[in-house]
Amino acid sequence: MDFDVVVIGGGVVGLSAANFLSKDYSVLLVEKHPSFGCETSSRNSEVIHSGIYYPKHTLKAKLCREGNKSLYEWCERNNVPFKRIGKLIVAAETQELPLLAKLLENAKDNGIDNISMLTGEEVSKMEPNVKSIAGLWVESTGIVDSHRLMESIFASAQSNGCSFAFRHCVDAIRFCGDCYELTVSTDTGDVFSFSSKFVVNSAGLYSDLVCSLLGLDIDALGYRLLWAKGHYFRVHPSKQHLVNHLIYPVPPIDSPFLGIHLTIELSGGLKLGPDIVFLDKRILDYTVREELREIFYQSVSRYLTGLTPSDLMPDQAGIRPKLKYYREYPDFIIKEESKNGFPGFINLVGIESPGLTCCLEIGKFVANLVNNIS
Ligand SMILES: Cc1cc2nc3c(=O)[nH]c(=O)nc-3n(C[C@H](O)[C@H](O)[C@H](O)COP(=O)(O)OP(=O)(O)OC[C@H]3O[C@@H](n4cnc5c(N)ncnc54)[C@H](O)[C@@H]3O)c2cc1C
Repeated sequence: MDFDVVVIGGGVVGLSAANFLSKDYSVLLVEKHPSFGCETSSRNSEVIHSGIYYPKHTLKAKLCREGNKSLYEWCERNNVPFKRIGKLIVAAETQELPLLAKLLENAKDNGIDNISMLTGEEVSKMEPNVKSIAGLWVESTGIVDSHRLMESIFASAQSNGCSFAFRHCVDAIRFCGDCYELTVSTDTGDVFSFSSKFVVNSAGLYSDLVCSLLGLDIDALGYRLLWAKGHYFRVHPSKQHLVNHLIYPVPPIDSPFLGIHLTIELSGGLKLGPDIVFLDKRILDYTVREELREIFYQSVSRYLTGLTPSDLMPDQAGIRPKLKYYREYPDFIIKEESKNGFPGFINLVGIESPGLTCCLEIGKFVANLVNNIS
C-alpha cells in the first residue's frame, strides 16, 4: 500500500482533512492546480458564520456552531488575520419581521449566544446609513483572511508529514477489495497510479464527478451538483466607510441564498454580493458583467443610503456546489461509503457555504470516520 489515505482536492476543506488525518496516518493530498485554494476556497465572502440560518440537527448547524469557535481559536494560535466584527440582519419592510423573529428562534435552538433583536432606532445608532425597521445583531460573526488560513493549515499538515502532489488530476479510481488504485495525470501528460486504503473525496465543484469515477450512481444517491455562480461588486473606496459591520438583508423566501449583502474586508474594503445564478454549463466562468450593476444597486438600496450606481465596480465571482436533489434540506453530505460497496471511501459533496467556517470541524469529522473503521 502506497498511502493510508489519499485526499482529492486542495481547497480549505481538503487541506483541513489532510491536516487532521496526517497526525495519525500517511497521507497524500492530490490537487490538479499548481497550488492550494485556486477554486471556491479563494472566491468567497470570507465570513466566519455563526450558524443561525441552518435547521437544528443538520450538519451545517452543528459544524458551523463548533467551527465558528474553533476557527477563531485556530486564527489566534496561528497568526491568521481575522476580526470578530459582528453582523446585522436588517428588515426593510414589515412583512420581513416574522422572518427575522424566526431566525432569532432558530439561532436560540442552535445554541448560538450573543444574539439580540434591535429596533430600527437601535440599528440606526450602530449604523447611521442603514434604513431598517428592525435588526438582528449577531456578535459572533466575523471575517478571516482565507488565504492566510489555508497557508496555516497547509503548513500544519506539512509539519505532520503530509505529502502533496500539485498539478496532478485524479482521472480514474478502482476499488481493489482491500484498497483503492488511483490514476493521475500531470499537466505535462505523465500518467501513473498508486494505492491507498482510504480515499477522501474533497473535490468541491467536481466531487460528484469523482463519485462517478468510482462507479457510484450520483442521481440515485442524490449527489449530483448544480453550479451556482455568485457575483460581487466592490464599493468605491470613498464610500467604504458607510458601514461598520457586516450588513445582511432578511434572506429571500424560497431562494437558496442569503440575499445580496455587504461584507467588509480585513483591508477595510467594502464588497456587495454574492447574488445567485445557476449555470447551464460547467465552465469556470468568473466574469462579472457591468450590466448586473443596476440589480446590485437596487438590492442594496433597500437597506442602505449614500450610494449611487457609479459607486459600484465589478469585482470577483465564485461558484457554489449546490445539491440538485435533496429531501428536506440541502445539508452537507459527508459519508463513508461502506453501505454502497466502497468501504473506506469518504465523500464530501455539496460543501457550499458555510464550508469555510466549518473547515476545521469537517476535517476532524473526516478523521473520526477514518479512525472508526481503521
Ligand atoms: C460566492 C461564495 C461565497 C461564499 N461565502 C462563504 C462565507 O462567507 N463563509 C463560509 O463559511 N463559506 C463561504 N462559501 C463556501 C466556501 O467557500 C466553500 O464551502 C469552501 O471553500 C469549500 O472548500 P472545498 O475545499 O470543499 O472546495 P474547493 O475550494 O472548491 O476545493 C476543491 C479542490 O478540488 C480540486 N479538484 C477537483 N477535482 C479534482 C481532481 N479530479 N483531481 C485533483 N484535484 C481536484 C479543485 O482543483 C479544488 O482546488 C462561499 C462560497 C461561494 C461560492
